[in-house]
Amino acid sequence: MTATITRPHEAAADLTALEEARAQLREAIDHLGLSEGKYQMLANARREVTVSVPLRRDDGELEVLIGHRVQHNFSRGPAKGGLRYDPHVDLDEVRALAMWMTWKCALIDVPYGGAKGGVRIDPRRYSQTELERVTRRYTSELMPILGPDKDIPAPDMGTDEQTMAWIMDTYSVAVGHTVPGVVTGKPISLGGSLGRRESTSCGVVHIALAAMESRGLRPSTSTAAVQGFGKVGRGAARFLYDAGVKVIAVSDQYGAVHNPGGIDLPRLEAFTERTGSFVDFDGADPLERDALLELDVDVLVPAALEGVLTSANAPRVRARVIVEGANGPTSSGADRIFADRDILVVPDILANAGGVIVSYFEWVQGNQAYWWTAREVEERLRSRMVGAWESVTAYAAENELSLRSAATVMAVERVALAHRQRGLYP
Ligand code: GLU
Repeated sequence: MTATITRPHEAAADLTALEEARAQLREAIDHLGLSEGKYQMLANARREVTVSVPLRRDDGELEVLIGHRVQHNFSRGPAKGGLRYDPHVDLDEVRALAMWMTWKCALIDVPYGGAKGGVRIDPRRYSQTELERVTRRYTSELMPILGPDKDIPAPDMGTDEQTMAWIMDTYSVAVGHTVPGVVTGKPISLGGSLGRRESTSCGVVHIALAAMESRGLRPSTSTAAVQGFGKVGRGAARFLYDAGVKVIAVSDQYGAVHNPGGIDLPRLEAFTERTGSFVDFDGADPLERDALLELDVDVLVPAALEGVLTSANAPRVRARVIVEGANGPTSSGADRIFADRDILVVPDILANAGGVIVSYFEWVQGNQAYWWTAREVEERLRSRMVGAWESVTAYAAENELSLRSAATVMAVERVALAHRQRGLYP
């Protein structure tokens, strides 16, 4: 199956991801009364590395891929963030995603800075052995800047536990001993944490339920649509369903399915497990992929790409609450339209922070060589997500800010404080 995936911001007149990230930073700096110099420090990454990744294909041909790692900030601790394998990866996108990781880690108060990596590759077109060679070569090119005290990758779009195992192995072989803490999101057998795999989705749903409650929406009488059926969307749909919310539509990169009476999520999951897609699922009707964003639902969870809610489609969005499972799915133009229409938007750095929270738990458990039970992980995740929700909503109310602005201001303030206390060298 092939599909041409257009990115909405390529078509609409909205800003790029990096322009959005910098505009959010600018607003936070102005709100906090910080200097232009501070803006410049935080608008630009501390370190960026671009590498060629030569790959010997299975048929013997040589192909050269391009990879990036952007370490946006490490004032509060090692840089932290996912590694993305996607054909649309470009340096500016990675810069934006790295900046958002800095704010996410600061907001939830884990002792990390922010980073992001990307390789421009469509992983669906490569064999496992090719992906292993790409991962090992990329890791080896980045060796000097990676490490459990320097920069700790994790899965993101197109990468998974296996990718993390290859990075961990390549790094460990090079330094001569096993270093589990160089990545998070590892397989459990190599020191991964229980609950890491579902942590982002689980956190998204903790936040979705809290946001619904704030708008007087009860799970048993509410509906949801989830865009994306990957690491985040699939679990979010399932946890919403388990909480009693009627999930009426889900989509992946190929298409969407819709059932106004509610989709039987366990059946859909079993079906896609067996066939690899939604096509021919008899428990829902096919729907045009992007039409999902405009359905009349209580909760919309964009959990795929950045830039999907733009000023072009925002006027047609009918959700009451939007919970950002993806990083950067809403443009600032769309944000303004949603604010005017009283649609509550819960920003990515709050809504999808569950992943990096449990990454932190994994790193802590690894450092102590002492593993927690699934219950302990779940409970600590829940309490951090709910705590973050409460502090962001309280700050937003006190300062008359949107949740996105409040979350960004809180995060920027913490990072700026770390800068101030550390001082500038030399
Ligand atoms: N890729 C995830 C994110 O965007 C997780 C990052 C991590 O665990 O380091 O938040």
